[in-house]
Amino acid sequence: MSDTIPYKIYLSESEIPTAWYNVRADMKNKPAPLLNPASGKPMTASELEKVFCSELVSQELNDTDAWIEIPSEIRDFYKMYRPSPLVRAYCLEEALGTPAHIYYKFEGNNTSGSHKLNSSIAQAYYAKKQGLKGVTTETGAGQWGTALSMACAYFGLDCQVYMVKVSYEQKPFRREVMRTYGAKVTPSPSMTTEVGRKINAEFPGTTGSLGCAISEAVEAAVSQEGYRYVLGSVLSQVLLHQTVIGLETKTALDKYNITPDIIIGCAGGGSNLGGLISPFAGEIIRGEKDYQIIAVEPASCPSLTRGKYVYDFCDTGKVCPLAKMYTLGSGYIPAPNHAGGLRYHGMSSIVSQLYDDGIIEARSVKQTEVFEAAQKFARIEGILPAPESSHAIKVAIDEALKCKETGEEKNIVFGLTGTGYFDMVAYQSFNDGTMKDYVPTDEEIEASLAKCPKVDA
Ligand SMILES: *Cc1c(COP(=O)(O)O)cnc(C)c1O
Repeated sequence: MSDTIPYKIYLSESEIPTAWYNVRADMKNKPAPLLNPASGKPMTASELEKVFCSELVSQELNDTDAWIEIPSEIRDFYKMYRPSPLVRAYCLEEALGTPAHIYYKFEGNNTSGSHKLNSSIAQAYYAKKQGLKGVTTETGAGQWGTALSMACAYFGLDCQVYMVKVSYEQKPFRREVMRTYGAKVTPSPSMTTEVGRKINAEFPGTTGSLGCAISEAVEAAVSQEGYRYVLGSVLSQVLLHQTVIGLETKTALDKYNITPDIIIGCAGGGSNLGGLISPFAGEIIRGEKDYQIIAVEPASCPSLTRGKYVYDFCDTGKVCPLAKMYTLGSGYIPAPNHAGGLRYHGMSSIVSQLYDDGIIEARSVKQTEVFEAAQKFARIEGILPAPESSHAIKVAIDEALKCKETGEEKNIVFGLTGTGYFDMVAYQSFNDGTMKDYVPTDEEIEASLAKCPKVDA
């Protein structure tokens, strides 16, 4: 059977999913609701609609409908770069000498370079449909801002991106990609918002932070008529849109009667991982199948493996609702030498609940091992992977090597979320041998967790 499997399993356009799969409908323990930090009560739709698009709010709050139709306008855009290939890593298998069969779902085949386009196009569509003029967002290194600017250009929406100042100055390439697609990119903290002016006055010369950029983007959304704020990960709506990854993966595997034994994804805010695994987790929950699912996170930002499952602020600026999630505390910042991405302090509430229920497991890996795996993968499989994606590569290789010892022919599937073209400064420090690992102490994590809000829910 195996030699009949092609290097790339391509699906046809008509096999792009027509509905996203909402795993919350099948979950016995639903993810905890978002809370209003002022009242401690669950956020209502009308409260959320002041900040987010209405249709996206209804998706955020929907834990009953298993299938949510993908509008044809979004599917038309998906057709420009989807279905994405499921690749059989024959070369990697041979190089490792493993009897395991390794597959990866490659989401880097679009100009934004990652899976983030799957959600940005959906969010831009609903904003347009609501008759809005534009959307605001923040971006750190710039992947999300790039994906959103492409989506807004397609639907003719204004796109305002608050980019952390240090990245704006040091990473001009992503900034210029965004501007080429028509986005207005403002270094944060800026003088265009109240919160930006306040931070600039308090900390002259500051190079900004993601938390501050979020606060500016939210203020910009609520203070301009016809604007809403959008986010690239963490929220349940984003994870929902990313289920196109898992649904296509399942269709491709089913075509060749392949049953995965292990499914692996990298976890930052949890959207690509949740999107990849949702259809498989659903089968586990419904008692139909059993899979080993592994979330991989950086040892320097280990929210699942070393964080606590509590209510916390979603952003450092504390302007967003509270979410119950595995968190390291909203003030947690990975060590300055951390270069591998996935630096969010918390985790999607869906992924958190699945982890708490034992449906998925988690592992943390050090960044030098991640870049070793990335380099190996680039040389053997030809694709230059994003550092984030390389967390999944690292664990896929580990599992394939275990099979070499035991002689097991396991099917290993992992998500390859993007390309690393804009991450060459990180690769440079690896290539120069100057990259260091940093693992936070228990005391550091406890000190950060002590600042979580006290919520009895
Ligand atoms: C943003 C990003 C991630 C992490 O985000 P999730 O929401 O955890 O999926 C992973 N890989 C790439 C290439 C990214 O750009």
